[in-house]
Amino acid sequence: MSTPTIPIIKTTHSNLANFNMNEIAFGKHFTDHMLVADYEDGAWKHVAIQPFSPISLDPSSAVLHYGQTIFEGIKAFKNDKGEFVIFRPDQNLIRFNVSAARMEMPQVPEWLFMEGMKQLINVESGWIPTTPDSSLYIRPFMIATDPYLGVRPSLTYKFMIILGPSGPYFSAPMKILIEQKYTRATPGGVGFAKNGGNYGASLHPVELAKQKGFDQILWTDANEHKYVEEVGVMNVMFVIDGKVITPSLERGTVLKGVTRDSSIILLREMGYEVEERNLSVDEIVAAHKKGVFQEIFGVGTAAVVSMIKQLAHGDYLMDFDPENMPIAKALKQALHEIRMGRKADKHGWMVKI
Ligand SMILES: *Cc1c(COP(=O)(O)O)cnc(C)c1O
Repeated sequence: MSTPTIPIIKTTHSNLANFNMNEIAFGKHFTDHMLVADYEDGAWKHVAIQPFSPISLDPSSAVLHYGQTIFEGIKAFKNDKGEFVIFRPDQNLIRFNVSAARMEMPQVPEWLFMEGMKQLINVESGWIPTTPDSSLYIRPFMIATDPYLGVRPSLTYKFMIILGPSGPYFSAPMKILIEQKYTRATPGGVGFAKNGGNYGASLHPVELAKQKGFDQILWTDANEHKYVEEVGVMNVMFVIDGKVITPSLERGTVLKGVTRDSSIILLREMGYEVEERNLSVDEIVAAHKKGVFQEIFGVGTAAVVSMIKQLAHGDYLMDFDPENMPIAKALKQALHEIRMGRKADKHGWMVKI
């Protein structure tokens, strides 16, 4: 199918000149334009790039009541050669449509997702920060727009892409509590989908952990709270006795992170053994007691690799020196070098705009 042309309506009020690229707060600032498309009568229509603005929704819109909403998070960079590149957006498209299927929402075709994203970034290329470690954060999302309170899949949807400059995301090493009561995801549930409800449901338990002095939760399985799953909204990796271990995806309760996948590939190429399997809290505690629990870190698009300095299982505290996490550090460096074009992009991960 040939790619339809996406009309571009340019703003007459760019905010770029007033924007301070040296002080960027994540998630607060957006570029001048956005991509919009409406799903009606079984087809995507009215695709356009237009000035960034509020949208109007009927108060009875399905998304506001029953949570049919999904999103993605992707980053674009200006590499060392001055090219604009996006990190593995094809993987985000696949996952977006997996999320859509689970939420009984329509599939978004490749041209709309990829061409829409590239053309929008092209219009906004002046917004890609060039300061080290900065990026342009890309947020595609879809919402159900039927003005109808009956509980059924909506017949109409809106797909949008918004962009925001993102500064050097320094994430301080985190203190993490192993969650023993609340759950993020259940087998048969929606944990593998990037749908809004997962995040709404996680806020309360994370807040309780914060009141106890922690930064985030290490989620455990819903049945027994025995096996570890994810850390906050990141995938989690452990180094035990020189081996990297990350929870497997098979129960459908761990989100299939693009950073997780990339990390597994890169770590194996660096010569580390990586196991995707069930990992129990008992095994972690036993490894710590034996002195072979060496590193623990989160991986995700926003912070890339986040060191963890303390892991708590009830009163039992496991402390780590973030300065002494050679595997996490090497991984972070490798991802950075590929994105900046300093290291050969063997797998074709970087998509040029
Ligand atoms: C988005 C997300 C991740 C990380 O996925 P990336 O593709 O690496 O950004 C991990 N866990 C959850 C719950 C997420 O929402």
